[in-house]
Amino acid sequence: MRIYLDHNATTPVREEVREAMARVLRDVPGNPSSVHAEGARARAEIDAARERVGALLAVPPGDVVFTAGATEANNTAIAAVSQRPDGRRHVVSTSVEHPSVDAALEELERRGYPVTRVSVDRSGRVDPDAVAEAIRDDTALVSVIWANNETGVLQPIEAIAERARARGAWVHTDATQAVGKHPLRPGALPIDLLSLSAHKFGGPKGVGCLVVRGDVPFAPLLRGGPQERRRRGGTENTAGVAGLAIACELAARELPDRVHRWGLLRDSLWEGIASKVPAVERNGDPDHVLANTLNATFRDTPGEVLLQALDLEGVAASAGAACASGSIEPSHVLVAMGLSPEEARGTLRFSVGHGVDEAQIDRVLALLPDLVARAREAGTA
Ligand code: PMP
Repeated sequence: MRIYLDHNATTPVREEVREAMARVLRDVPGNPSSVHAEGARARAEIDAARERVGALLAVPPGDVVFTAGATEANNTAIAAVSQRPDGRRHVVSTSVEHPSVDAALEELERRGYPVTRVSVDRSGRVDPDAVAEAIRDDTALVSVIWANNETGVLQPIEAIAERARARGAWVHTDATQAVGKHPLRPGALPIDLLSLSAHKFGGPKGVGCLVVRGDVPFAPLLRGGPQERRRRGGTENTAGVAGLAIACELAARELPDRVHRWGLLRDSLWEGIASKVPAVERNGDPDHVLANTLNATFRDTPGEVLLQALDLEGVAASAGAACASGSIEPSHVLVAMGLSPEEARGTLRFSVGHGVDEAQIDRVLALLPDLVARAREAGTA
């Protein structure tokens, strides 16, 4: 049996989600925009889903705009800068954003919008005071990832949002990795825009949402029909949206248990690695990190060799460096934290989730010392 420790990449769809989606695909064939009974039935599914998503996040359901995932939500949020009624154009962000935020910021820069990226410290956190210092009188938007996908490090969003709001900037957070894994109530914070993606917490791929505070003007990224109150054109993904809603409901119900259980599994994994494998260091602030994520550097180890060896033994994890056009490209997140390219190369991410148990962690710990030793030998050969 495979051991899947890559839940930050994606999660298996939960049984309850699969059942809800199958029901909608089978029984709800209508277009939510149609006025007949079939349309009304589909509309009711979308409305009920909006309520469930709103309940998890403590935001008004009307603020939820369904999208095809967090990439679309992030691109839409960043593009909102051009809609500032006061003409502000400057954006503040960080050096550890997901590519779907980074690429959207680069596009803004190409179009002449100034962007300031605040650095993180060795533990992967941004200092809210440094963000406050970067905010200018013409700052339109402050966009900060809530939990990092590679390290799991949580940013001080509350403090950042308060400072940004006080200066009249909109606040966007990419909460894709935080939702369903960490207790959060964004509705209680001065957050204007929030992105999430269903497949990171037991829902299907290709569906997510952007939460847009009621009075924030923005232009749809996808222009077309009047769907989503003219905020996102295109016939709604009714089954996907229903699946996202069940994933949100499960998250609301299970969150305290998830944080507790996943935290224990992650801690056993780290304690086991630290005691059995020489020359290994944990990355990221251990006091401000997702309960499910362990990011660790195995010194003088080709990470890609170790990852492949784990895969052959039935264990799925993820690397801190990727092979791009024949050369090893270190993760920008690890580099931003001050790791050398060599250290990034020896870095692996283990992310636990639903279905992982203590016996699986024991199995990984039984395998790792030998696999690391062999990968290190291969690296020096
Ligand atoms: N933001 C973060 C932090 C992510 O981890 C991901 C998924 N890797 C995304 C955005 C993009 O999500 P999706 O691929 O579902 O659009």
